[in-house]
This record gives sequence, C-alpha cells and structure tokens, in this order.
Amino acid sequence: MLDEKIFIDPVCKMKVKKPNEVEMQMLSISYENKIYYFCSHFCTAEFIQNPSRYVNAALIEE
Ligand SMILES: [Zn+2]
Repeated sequence: MLDEKIFIDPVCKMKVKKPNEVEMQMLSISYENKIYYFCSHFCTAEFIQNPSRYVNAALIEE
C-alpha cells in the first residue's frame, strides 16, 4: 500500500502528508508515544513551546 495517509497538523489544523525522510527530522515530533506531523518548522517550534495545548487539539481532530 502507498503511504498516503493524511495527518492533521495540531498547531494550524492543516492537513499534511507524512513528510519525506529529509523533512522528517524537522516536521515530526514524537510526544507521549504518539507522532505528530507539521506543515512547517514554525508549527513544530510552536508545538515544542506548548505541547499539551496542541495534543488536546489533535485528539479532537481524530
Ligand atoms: Zn502548520
């Protein structure tokens, strides 16, 4: 199967595809055993600042 899953960026709520290997370092965070994907490093940085706020938002989206 193709890996075309869509994820919700928990910071800005944009739909994002799983980043490629190059982007993975910058656009994904593993937090409390769950992986979150982001549209840009700005959102990644924002998530790092206040993860608990955005984790809750991500859960609602799912
Ligand atoms: Zn974003």
